[in-house]
Amino acid sequence: MTNEKPILVETKELTKYFTGKKDLLNLHPQEVKAVDHVNLTIRRGETLGLVGESGCGKSTLGRVILRLIPMTSGQVFYEGVDIGAYDKKQMWQMRKKMQIIFQDPYSSLNPRMTVYDLVRAPLDVFGIGTTEERREMVISILNDVGLDRQYLNRFPHEFSGGQRQRIGIARALVLNPEFVVCDEAVSALDVSVRAQVLNLMCRMQEKRRLTYLFISHDLSVVRHVSDRVAVMYLGSVVEIGTKHELYGSPLHPYTRALLSAIPIPDANRKRNRIILEGDVPNAYHPPAGCRFHTRCPYATEQCSQEVPVLRQVGDGEHMVACHRAEEV
Ligand code: SF4
Repeated sequence: MTNEKPILVETKELTKYFTGKKDLLNLHPQEVKAVDHVNLTIRRGETLGLVGESGCGKSTLGRVILRLIPMTSGQVFYEGVDIGAYDKKQMWQMRKKMQIIFQDPYSSLNPRMTVYDLVRAPLDVFGIGTTEERREMVISILNDVGLDRQYLNRFPHEFSGGQRQRIGIARALVLNPEFVVCDEAVSALDVSVRAQVLNLMCRMQEKRRLTYLFISHDLSVVRHVSDRVAVMYLGSVVEIGTKHELYGSPLHPYTRALLSAIPIPDANRKRNRIILEGDVPNAYHPPAGCRFHTRCPYATEQCSQEVPVLRQVGDGEHMVACHRAEEV
């Protein structure tokens, strides 16, 4: 079964390499392949969850898609147009359509600005509306995210973490974007307010027909909000599928290990946790072949030599990069 929703964002062989420290003789700068030949599609109106351990490249991927940091090579298409080739002026116009919600509401809001100024700032930057119209737009979006107009003249430090993230969401959505990268958007929040903010994000998606790339290390949260989920390991996507395919029948040994670590909210049930052997490889010198082979219990000779490509398994949307997916 194929999904009929049109593709909004697509990456083709997208890479981002960071130049780091030099080698022992100080001759050649070494590279970290933070994002390595990633091919992804994100459909209009869906939430694509992006999971993986910290440092796997998921936040970098989100920022490269938005062109907040330059790519090393590859392409990013938005509605079929290669925005990687856009100049500054063209990209400026795209900013209205593509926004980001950051993880940390404490540091992403200027402490010296009032809520009104913070949320109005994007409208000022793009010269949208008159002063009065901007005020109405700010009040309207704050109302949508559950903040009353009485808070307009308050400063970020006067709010709780959950309220600050609501301000961050209002600021990201005031321009009426189509595509939003949510980068660990609820990770810094207390468990008690996390569900409220997640529900708010889902409501806003429905109301404004938003498309989300939802980046998180928390697989329970991703399951709650996503339509499809992609798993990253050391800069590469190793598995992608619908939420039901990925959580119901994970194929990649790394995905299985991640899923086995999700706590079950039932004291009488136990999950067989898969403990990965070995350390996370040095990002400057990732293993040859399958990058997971140094930690994979199913690794063979072939795994240490041949890079597994992302390939379709079954007749759904499930894709996996593992030589032995069918066997294990
Ligand atoms: Fe494990 Fe080999 Fe599959 Fe990599 S390709 S995940 S090493 S079985």
